Amino acid sequence: MKTKFVVVLGALMSGMGKGIVTSSILQILDFYGYNALPIKFDGYLNYDCGTMNPYRHGEVFVLNDKSEVDMDFGIYERFLNKDLTGDLSITGGKLFSGIIEKERKGGFLGDDVQIIPHLTGEILERIKNIANEKKPDVLIIEVGGTVGDIENSYFIEAMRQLSLEEKVTFVALTYLPFIDVVGEQKTKPTQIAFRSIMNTGIRPTFLVCRSDKRVLEKTKEKLSLFTNIKKDYIIDDSTQDTLYRMPLHFIREGFDKKFIDEIGLDGSNLSKKKISELENTIERIVHPTKEINIAIVGKYVGLTDAYTSVKEALIHSGAKLDCKVNIDWVEAEELEKPENDFEILKKYNGVIVPGGFGKRGIEGMINAIKYSRESKTPYLGICLGMQLMAIEYARNVCKLNDSNSTEFNPNVEHKIIYTMPSQRRTQYKGATMRLGAWDCKINKTDSIAYRSYKKDIISERHRHRFEFNNKYRDMMEKNGLVISATTPDNELVEMIEWTDGFGIGTQAHPELKSRLYEPAPLFLSLIENAIAHKYNK
Ligand code: GLN
Repeated sequence: MKTKFVVVLGALMSGMGKGIVTSSILQILDFYGYNALPIKFDGYLNYDCGTMNPYRHGEVFVLNDKSEVDMDFGIYERFLNKDLTGDLSITGGKLFSGIIEKERKGGFLGDDVQIIPHLTGEILERIKNIANEKKPDVLIIEVGGTVGDIENSYFIEAMRQLSLEEKVTFVALTYLPFIDVVGEQKTKPTQIAFRSIMNTGIRPTFLVCRSDKRVLEKTKEKLSLFTNIKKDYIIDDSTQDTLYRMPLHFIREGFDKKFIDEIGLDGSNLSKKKISELENTIERIVHPTKEINIAIVGKYVGLTDAYTSVKEALIHSGAKLDCKVNIDWVEAEELEKPENDFEILKKYNGVIVPGGFGKRGIEGMINAIKYSRESKTPYLGICLGMQLMAIEYARNVCKLNDSNSTEFNPNVEHKIIYTMPSQRRTQYKGATMRLGAWDCKINKTDSIAYRSYKKDIISERHRHRFEFNNKYRDMMEKNGLVISATTPDNELVEMIEWTDGFGIGTQAHPELKSRLYEPAPLFLSLIENAIAHKYNK
């Protein structure tokens, strides 16, 4: 079957949940038995988002193949329940560096290289290569940013060109503000934004309306009049109780049938089984019978988008265990104040220190870990959270007071966490960390790690520069720290544990592979233990 093309564009503004609409369409296609893949365009000139500050950009998502990609890939993978690859992320940086390399090699001899047709041609070539190599039934292309931005204009132009050669279905996402005093959904911003879409030469088939409240029939009528889009092709995208309901909501609204029909597929094989599986899981998210409180102690808590996958992994585990997981974001620096007696942490049934970079807040995180160990509050340390768990243990149990990571203090006496000489190879910052999926061997069956994963060789995704210093392995083990997992060659420490209570740190980021039906095993264990902490006291 020839690949069908769908393009999702945002009109008006960013942050409306284009990634969720794209993912919902992917999941709907899966319900109908079709193999759909996403492509994401990002206009920024960074090669990838690996060097961006999560405070500005949100979480950097990592794929099995080491690619550092936009956090939308996390949403795609979670909705599709499929591992994706880095070629599906097309950035301005990748395009420009590719085109300049081609020019230097003489690829355009005689030509002056231009945005149109050369850069747009490069975009079309990449899309066609993906279609030819991966042969998906449908490619859903999400254009980052908003129509009207300079940054994504060449992507949109390329999509217009694609529609000359192929049938392309355009889905535009817009926002409808509701003014309470007037009691009315305002359509004018969308009318104006729609004109800027029409100026690009693109005519959307569907208009998806993001709104806090249900989109009224009379609002649809008005929008139809001003946009020339048929009223039943204007789709309600109002806030749902959980974002995992979105595909079901679109089906309830009748979007699925019109969409499948419009792109030219047969819509007779909707899987009732997949729908009821999702409905049942959502029921446990929305009406759980238990409830626990988890503290995430980090430094990017001002923008929780920096920890989206951690948040979702907790929701997945909660859904499995029929438990509402209340998450509080605790600013690590708050736990550094000398007068703090950890009163703030007492109401939690579990503590997480997630990944992070740089010195700010680390002493507060170490205090939170010490509190968890001593009070036997279940603890999960992720990457930085594992490194700090080792440092806390060295300082407070092994009594090596001057212990740290060389990331925070290069001259410390006990370099518990450091970069191995073999890793100090480059001055480049982009794509030089330990990245992507790594195999890991669980060495002890009597361990939290084994009880969680139930097998001895596992694979998780990584994104870090520093490692546990092997020089301290024996000494730490003699003092009771369990080194439960390493790389299969035993070179790098992957997981450490406390023997008393539930405490585990992993050098990987298990949240990146957590899925609604397959929660990350360590998160699931944390929540099980947090439930026991609350209910079995
Ligand atoms: N900053 C630490 C390192 O680079 C931890 C990174 C992380 O938590 N992802 O090793």
